[in-house]
Amino acid sequence: MAAIASAPASFLQAMTSVKRAFNFSAGPGVLPEEVVQQCQQDLWSIDGTGIGIMEHSHRGKTFDKVLADAESACRKIANVPSNYKILFVTGGATTQNEMVPKNLLGADQAAAFLTTGYWAEKTFEECKAHFPKSYEAWDGRATKHTFCPSDSELTWGEKPGYVHYCSNNTIYGTQFRHADGSFRYPSVPWNDVPVVCDMSSDIYSRPLDISKFGLIYAGAQKNVGVAGTTLIIIREDLLDLHKKLNKKLFTMETYATHAKGESRHNTPPAFPIYVSGLVFKWILSQGGLAAMHQRNMEKAAIIYKAIDAGFYKGHARSDSRSAMNILFKCPTPELDDKFIAEALKNGMDQLKGHRSTGGVRASVYNAMPKAGCEAIAQFMTDFAKRNG
Ligand code: PMP
Repeated sequence: MAAIASAPASFLQAMTSVKRAFNFSAGPGVLPEEVVQQCQQDLWSIDGTGIGIMEHSHRGKTFDKVLADAESACRKIANVPSNYKILFVTGGATTQNEMVPKNLLGADQAAAFLTTGYWAEKTFEECKAHFPKSYEAWDGRATKHTFCPSDSELTWGEKPGYVHYCSNNTIYGTQFRHADGSFRYPSVPWNDVPVVCDMSSDIYSRPLDISKFGLIYAGAQKNVGVAGTTLIIIREDLLDLHKKLNKKLFTMETYATHAKGESRHNTPPAFPIYVSGLVFKWILSQGGLAAMHQRNMEKAAIIYKAIDAGFYKGHARSDSRSAMNILFKCPTPELDDKFIAEALKNGMDQLKGHRSTGGVRASVYNAMPKAGCEAIAQFMTDFAKRNG
């Protein structure tokens, strides 16, 4: 990323003189520092145009390049096959709870769900309200979403229009994974049923085979950018499936519209797309997904080791531990509060668990440096000694 030295030095110095905390937020999450610094430059003037990225027309040459670069870097990272479209849409991952069934399900059809967490519950419930034959091939509520099911634990009903699951459960800290942390694809008994995956909290954190999916979606604000755009990777034959299903949808509701308009049928979230483009280039510059995965496994292991030392209790069953969101509790809720408050004083922020789980949650997305994981693990050890 070549920096453009046209912003006044005082402007840049003021921005970078503040010490940054280790940000363990579950999302919006930490961004790579190089990306934030590039944004600072390009907010002022991008590509020597004298116009900042947020002020450029979404139909001009400058944004043409931003969009094309973002798309091509996104494609390169995961070798996205040529029969898949990459789209940047709005409305967050939550809007996909509506768009997916609207586009992929016929009026009387069911979709099948693997309910492994809070967001997966919401996705199922919304679909069920509109497509009542939809069902859960797995329901993890009774076991408090402590793990992701094995293939033999899935109970399939009628052949669904699609199967939906969430690869990483942000709130419960579980992930579909093999022992080495690599991607685990639940097996589906029908070859011709598209698999839809919510990858909001682990997209591009480890290698994956795009061809296993019909549609992948991810809110950008954790691993691939900032809030405001949702990345969609969709197989081309699904773009206008709604037509084959004889459904009449509004223009903005169809994937076909966004594909035809190349993510700018209307004014797109230009700045978030630009940031995603920088993050994609950063991932490539770091060595791509294999390197990301190795680093993420090392980082997560540092924190899990501190959990396994005894004082803390982790939430996830060990075979489903997420490398992205790490949940643990101190022996009492009062100690959780004390932990979070003292960690903050030590430069570690956003550690409070979600209201549905309580405890502590350390989110360690791609951009969290190893030093952040070492700092919290050291703090955990010291805190345990002082309070054990
Ligand atoms: N799915 C998952 C796995 C998430 O973590 C989140 C947000 N934290 C969502 C969906 C909802 O995303 P959004 O706020 O972008 O709608």
